[in-house]
Amino acid sequence: MGRMDFRTRRGPCGNRSIGRYPEGVTFPVVGMVGGGQLARMTHEAGIPLGIRFKLLSDTPQDSAAQVVGDVVVGDYRDLETLREFARGCDVITFDHEHVPTEHLRALEADGIPVRPGPDALLYAQDKGEMRAKLTSLGVPCPRHRIVSDAADVAAFAAEGDGFPVILKTVRGGYDGKGVWFVRSEEDLANTAEPFKAGVAVLAEEKVDFVRELAANVVRSPHGQAVAYPVVESQQVDGVCDTVIAPAPDLDETLAGEAQELALRVAKELGVVGHLAVELFETRDGRILVNELAMRPHNSGHWTQDGAITSQFANHVRAVLDLPLGDPRPRAPWTVMCNVLGGDFPDMYSAYLHCMARDPQLKIHMYGKDVKPGRKVGHVNTYGDDLDEVLDRARHAAGYLRGTITE
Ligand code: ADP
Repeated sequence: MGRMDFRTRRGPCGNRSIGRYPEGVTFPVVGMVGGGQLARMTHEAGIPLGIRFKLLSDTPQDSAAQVVGDVVVGDYRDLETLREFARGCDVITFDHEHVPTEHLRALEADGIPVRPGPDALLYAQDKGEMRAKLTSLGVPCPRHRIVSDAADVAAFAAEGDGFPVILKTVRGGYDGKGVWFVRSEEDLANTAEPFKAGVAVLAEEKVDFVRELAANVVRSPHGQAVAYPVVESQQVDGVCDTVIAPAPDLDETLAGEAQELALRVAKELGVVGHLAVELFETRDGRILVNELAMRPHNSGHWTQDGAITSQFANHVRAVLDLPLGDPRPRAPWTVMCNVLGGDFPDMYSAYLHCMARDPQLKIHMYGKDVKPGRKVGHVNTYGDDLDEVLDRARHAAGYLRGTITE
């Protein structure tokens, strides 16, 4: 991929001025598709660099649409909307993986850099393609197969260790939605749902893991890449709850292998920007890839306060092909806890107690309305003593949610 030269280039469509900036402000415009919290925090990271943002958002109320100055409200599934949006952008990047591949190819054909590009993004969009590609690269994955009905699932189970088997829609799942645990043959008889949607279904062995890890890396078009420390990611009901950086007691060799694996995947797949490789650490000391995300990721939120350069800042640098920033941690331990909505709708009133109790606490809220179980923010804490750092983060997240009252 060629290097963008912002000194001579006037933007793909010759339109660098979008009317919001004084003449002479020539910093590049990053076009962000998707208005969620990842877009909001990526925008935040671009502000000190003077990078301009343009956002394509589903609604004017979306998390990022509340804070970005230049917002287009429209449907990312519509090519003409995307084309219109891309006019005046120097590069397009994403807060989600759902933009149709053929639209991304059309934008590229129009001369607009799309980062990560459609050829890479495919492996974050489609779990079946991801498994096939990683397996062809010799990257360790759970045993898997594309299945089309219950008989296929039964055959898949019989060829391995039997049930349980995990079924996943290959496209469109998130936060455990689109994942089904099939515990037994009887269970299978009652599992028609995965086959209803008309989307291909991936069957996987249920991995006997000790914990889930994530190896986060960032790669630029230039081929420069950085690796963050491997983290432990704890899920509750299929939703990320706590991330500990670095993963406690992780064997150094295994940590190095996980980082190398993520760097290799980023390179082989041609990823540009942030890549999260979600991993299982098995009981017998191996790592298997669960899935890939090609955008800033929940397992990297700790980097906002715990690393020298955050995942968001490095994603911005990468998509603009700028030199990447130092990914090393600032403290021995950083903990991120997600703040989920609970029965307590007024989180702001909880600030007084949280801030007074822990002046080092870092709170990040997404501007979302509070609904039970919905991710509405996260907190980061860091320090020298893991138990204490964990305790502070869990307390703040619980207090904000309303499950802890003192
Ligand atoms: P999503 O795209 O919704 O995040 P994932 O594929 O990451 O879906 O699965 C959600 C969760 O289900 C994982 O974080 C993990 O806890 C569990 N899981 C997924 N695949 C497996 C597997 N093969 N074996 C055991 N647990 C799994």
